[in-house]
Amino acid sequence: MVTDCHAHLDSPEMAGFLKSLENIENNFQSQKWPPNYRIVSNSTNIQSSKRNIEIGSKLHRSVIPFVGIHPETVMEIGPAENIGEKIEDYCHQVEDLLESARGMGEIGLDPKYGYGDLQLLILKNQLEIFESKPLLPISIHTRNTIEQVLEILSTFKVSNRVLFHWFAGNQSDLENVQSKGYFVSFGPALIFSKRLQNLLRSANLKLVLAETDSPLIFSSISKKQPLSPFAVTSVIFKMAEVTGSSYDEMSYIMEENTDDYLQAQNSLRVST
Ligand SMILES: [Zn+2]
Repeated sequence: MVTDCHAHLDSPEMAGFLKSLENIENNFQSQKWPPNYRIVSNSTNIQSSKRNIEIGSKLHRSVIPFVGIHPETVMEIGPAENIGEKIEDYCHQVEDLLESARGMGEIGLDPKYGYGDLQLLILKNQLEIFESKPLLPISIHTRNTIEQVLEILSTFKVSNRVLFHWFAGNQSDLENVQSKGYFVSFGPALIFSKRLQNLLRSANLKLVLAETDSPLIFSSISKKQPLSPFAVTSVIFKMAEVTGSSYDEMSYIMEENTDDYLQAQNSLRVST
């Protein structure tokens, strides 16, 4: 079993990949082959959250739907009238959708999208929901905001499993994040970046996960073709090489870590 811990299957670019997953699940029905892949599918807004729940119920053996409001969504909302009420309404909808989801993501902060105060409000409202749902994992976007997010998390009673996805911080960020028991994930950038490889060498491997952030276009691999969650095997292969272990050992570690992140009763293990 291989898991991509952070992707966006609701994106239109993922249509071909969803077809492959459907075939894998159909084979399971007819020939009893268990699916080898599971994918945590993250959302960006309410519509995307509904779509991921739909995908997750159709492909329930391989897709783990997360719901939430991405910091980028702030650009759609913008400074409108009654903005406070609008955000509250969005967050109530997320709370309702969480009943049918297996976690929350992608939430977070990113100065690139502006409207810092609104981003903060949306993030805090979503974390508030989490205080009462300790068994659900979270996926957080922290581009250039690792310290700020750590500080915000410390003001909430969040005992959930937390993932700092596509980790790009420095050595001391890594120590600060992992010392709180939070996970970090590495994507295909690990294959090319010596800096990330050095971070992985010094990381607590028990709190590391693998991801692709598909359908991201990652120019070191292709300038046109979006990534597919199948690329997560290349990330795990590189993790094995960097840490001096075998691919099988590293896959096993990643599977254990993923089960821990998703939490036992919340994980999608296929019984054969
Ligand atoms: Zn993402």
